[in-house]
Amino acid sequence: MALDTEHSAVFLDGRTNRKRNVTLRFASGMDITEQDTVIDCWPYDQVRRADSPPQTLRLRCATALPLARLEVTDAATQGAIAAYCRSLDVGGASAGQTWRIVFWSLGAVCSIVLLAFFGIPFVVDRLAPILPFALEQRIGDAVDKQVQFIFGGKTCDGADGQAAFTKLVDKLKTAGGIDMPLEARVVSSKTPNAFALPGGKVYLLDGLLKKAEKPDEIAGVLAHELGHVAHRDSLRKIMQTGGTSFLIGLLFGDVTGGSAMIFVGRSLFDASYSREQERAADAFAIDVMHRLGRSPKPLGELLVRVTGTEATSSMTLLSSHPLSEDRLALMSKDTGSRVGPELLSAAEWKALKNICAAPPRSGGA
Ligand SMILES: [Zn+2]
Repeated sequence: MALDTEHSAVFLDGRTNRKRNVTLRFASGMDITEQDTVIDCWPYDQVRRADSPPQTLRLRCATALPLARLEVTDAATQGAIAAYCRSLDVGGASAGQTWRIVFWSLGAVCSIVLLAFFGIPFVVDRLAPILPFALEQRIGDAVDKQVQFIFGGKTCDGADGQAAFTKLVDKLKTAGGIDMPLEARVVSSKTPNAFALPGGKVYLLDGLLKKAEKPDEIAGVLAHELGHVAHRDSLRKIMQTGGTSFLIGLLFGDVTGGSAMIFVGRSLFDASYSREQERAADAFAIDVMHRLGRSPKPLGELLVRVTGTEATSSMTLLSSHPLSEDRLALMSKDTGSRVGPELLSAAEWKALKNICAAPPRSGGA
């Protein structure tokens, strides 16, 4: 019998803290022996390197107890182990990485289970109101980029028009009791439309401004959009249409990247708010106009002028709204004797109407 070099190691069996001095024998597997008794055998291809201090080779085994370890300080033994165990660094995730993966996988599984059992509307209804505004703003910024990409509209910034627009928005914001910061702007686009994005972004397209005949019409439109802002409808819509991937993105802290946002960018123009959401926004607009001592009827008149009276309009956001005629009827109901001050002077209204006529700020010459 050939006398082999004795390969000594320290063994922790994974059950107790006791350190046992053992001898390793390289047979069909790596035999761990204590006083000539084999106490464990680790298959060569299951032995892995574990985190260890310098100079020490610390090993674990995929088929042994999770906390079982072998510590080898002797260089000759380390060399022998390296020769026999060829998979020491396979699947080399450190313990920290492993836990992170386990944690997030569990989180993803939990949210998928929630979605499967209760559905997206359930999760969205509970998540939307508690989502921090800062996060909503981040989502809004990302959607905003998508919108600009799809749509290519430039922000109009004629100075006098901008002053009038800001004045109008501020009045509506105050009357509507909205305390979050707003980012309202007029965008040069021929489409007669307006919409709100998450994070208090309100867009009025020049096409709609062109069709308007008086400030109260535009005030009504903006008040309606502020209703969507106040009710966080746009955030809900995006969470709903982005669906599972969006919610999982939220879980991973990556709401602004990946496929969810591409999906959202498209759906923003296809998907519509529910009738209930539209009615609530109309009710909000009517209430705001009344608070300002103005009639909401001009909003209804503008909608009829833009969409016509038929139901089938190709207009995206306006067509998703309840029938313009029905809305006009609703807004005409209370004609009352409300005579608050004009929201804009004749000069301010003229400047607002021409806000897109001024050359854009960044455009040279
Ligand atoms: Zn609406």
